[in-house]
Amino acid sequence: MGKQMDPRMHSAEHVLNQTMVRLFDCGRCFSAHIEKKKSKCDYHFDRPLTEAEIAHIEKQVNEVIEADLPVREQYMSRKESADRYDLHRLPEDVEEPIRIVTVGDYDACPCIGPHVKSTRAIGDFRIGSASFENGVLRIRFKLGKAPRP
Ligand SMILES: [Zn+2]
Repeated sequence: MGKQMDPRMHSAEHVLNQTMVRLFDCGRCFSAHIEKKKSKCDYHFDRPLTEAEIAHIEKQVNEVIEADLPVREQYMSRKESADRYDLHRLPEDVEEPIRIVTVGDYDACPCIGPHVKSTRAIGDFRIGSASFENGVLRIRFKLGKAPRP
């Protein structure tokens, strides 16, 4: 998680993670490489995805983007946040209060990264490929051009 992480790509990661949780109950990605041009997220999984499933994920992520949900932050104590969220991807030395990033009522998770103000700013979401190996599902994705504000 670098400081120069692209806000559009990283916000897409939030939406994709919640979409994966809702569709497959697989948890959020345990590893992510977020870059400006293309990104990838890795999930613990038990099989490859079908083409129909890939299309379904893409459609649902784009519906959330088009709904232009506000991306907001709220703060809570480490204990309170640990009761409600998985903190394991936050750095150990993150200071309290913990920042929780919400995407409308679709997603909420602790995060220190940069985000768009609302989901339409993410632009068109496209899955380049999804591969499965040794219990790891890797989803590679790209974004279309940033929409005009
Ligand atoms: Zn984030």
